[in-house]
Amino acid sequence: MSYYIAAPMSRNDISAITNIIRDACGLTKEKYFRVVDVLELFLPSFDSDFVMEIADVHAMREEGMAYPENHVIVLRQDVYEGAIKGNSRDRFTVAHEIGHYILHTPNRIQRTGLARSKERLKAYLDPEWQANTFAGELLAPLQVISGLTIEEISRECGVSKKTAEIQLRIKNR
Ligand SMILES: [Zn+2]
Repeated sequence: MSYYIAAPMSRNDISAITNIIRDACGLTKEKYFRVVDVLELFLPSFDSDFVMEIADVHAMREEGMAYPENHVIVLRQDVYEGAIKGNSRDRFTVAHEIGHYILHTPNRIQRTGLARSKERLKAYLDPEWQANTFAGELLAPLQVISGLTIEEISRECGVSKKTAEIQLRIKNR
């Protein structure tokens, strides 16, 4: 259930942003995108106030949190280490939080009165859908997955088979 509503963004709007990030990192067509580099190299250059914090495993229930208003992304230690080692779930989590950080600045997100409504928020307004889409597009964009199978995308891009399948389905749409 989403308690927040984001400024509308389509998958194309989001992939335009993830492609800018890949280009800025010089990794336009790199299959294995080192997502932690965005935290350690790209975001600090793009936002001089940016801080990454690592939380103790016992101190944090969530895997990660983004606070764009405070220029902070917090990652649980196991997630940060897993992302460096190449664990696909942790890589996706890091990319998802970067998505929140970049897309959901205070002027682009607000609490919704629909909070507890049974009606689902339309995907393009849902901050969680937007952050998941950002993660898929950053880690496995169309220009990279072209010609690959689900298994190859999963292995070479370091994403789950589910993410690979979603990205491939979009490409073939
Ligand atoms: Zn989220």
